[in-house]
Amino acid sequence: MLNLPAEFETFNELKKKGFIEIKEEKDKGKNVVGIFCSYTPVELIMAIDAHFVSLCGGDDASIAAAEKFLPKTLCPLIKSSYGLAITDSCPYFYFSDAILAETTCDGKKKMYELLGEIKPTHVMHLPQSQTAPLAIESWTEEMKQTATFLEQQFGRPITTESLRQAIIDRNRVRKALLQLYEIAALVPSPVSGYELSSVVESTDFHFTDDDVVEGLNQKIEEYLARYVAPNPDAKRRPRLMITGCPIGGCREKILKAVEDLGADVVAFDSCSGPRTQKVLVDETIDPYQALAEKYLLINCSVMSPNQGRFEDMKEMLKHYQVDGVIELILHGCHTFAVEAYYTKKFVTETMELPYICIDADFSTSDAGQIRTRLEAFLEILQ
Ligand code: SF4
Ligand code: SF4
Repeated sequence: MLNLPAEFETFNELKKKGFIEIKEEKDKGKNVVGIFCSYTPVELIMAIDAHFVSLCGGDDASIAAAEKFLPKTLCPLIKSSYGLAITDSCPYFYFSDAILAETTCDGKKKMYELLGEIKPTHVMHLPQSQTAPLAIESWTEEMKQTATFLEQQFGRPITTESLRQAIIDRNRVRKALLQLYEIAALVPSPVSGYELSSVVESTDFHFTDDDVVEGLNQKIEEYLARYVAPNPDAKRRPRLMITGCPIGGCREKILKAVEDLGADVVAFDSCSGPRTQKVLVDETIDPYQALAEKYLLINCSVMSPNQGRFEDMKEMLKHYQVDGVIELILHGCHTFAVEAYYTKKFVTETMELPYICIDADFSTSDAGQIRTRLEAFLEILQ
């Protein structure tokens, strides 16, 4: 079972617990595949009876080592991920037998070339548009080629049956995650965004779907039991959405800071949020086609155009009764930085809500300045 006691543990504590779990799995002879992105069709890894683990770095400490080889101006997520790999300081990277990656942003896809010198790395060619001619055909073909890579790497086949079962199992996890996110739609939310995001992202470090689903169901019950109906006389805490780049490396200085200042983060419009989970993989059609259809629908800024992001955002802003939006742009992330033009316009003009854009890296040096900006933003919402 997902090892989450009633007492809240931070993401880093949960991640460390997963180190022991993955070592035990390796000792049992299990293969492990490292991944970096929500576009990764993890069902293929499951279908070959291997575990997948997220290797995305969110740690400032590993960046200096990476900057000996990568440009300083690159996004901290890419530098941190590569730094963890080359310093051998991440047990998850150490235990990974292979890497499954995709051509998302330029920095990531070029970093994978360097990573390929350390571990067997397969890079899937993700179409850069969801609607381009032949996008779905080429992405379906990429699914098949990835299956061949995994078969050759591990010397066993992916059968149609094992792939169908993996799709069913992963859909169960998605449904449990969707129920968990749904709790934050309650007013007031009985769970902090900091806690919710820590629990959701820690599921990447548990390796049996049944355990993950059981653990998530337990958390859902625990959070629902905390719910107290709103007092009509009490002042409502502002309800916020987080959007933009992955929040992991800025969890403390943005997510925790803004909640400590008196707001509730209730909606995550990011790749680990509900918009990535809400489309299930079709269990009834050809499994490769089904995977291609599901994963191509993810609305990340690496897609051009990326109109679906704003359609999803509109629905979420209403559903979670959001009062304001915080966008995170990691230094050097061109796709989200450029798309922020549309995000700001959409939030402030179409939805008529307050919006703040925060540029950050993973260091703590800007934490004070960010806190001051968040304080000023919350004042607008009072
Ligand atoms: S933000 Fe986009 S490219 Fe980055 S991990 Fe998420 S889906 Fe992948
Ligand atoms: S945050 Fe932006 S630059 Fe960094 S890995 Fe994701 S898409 Fe690439």
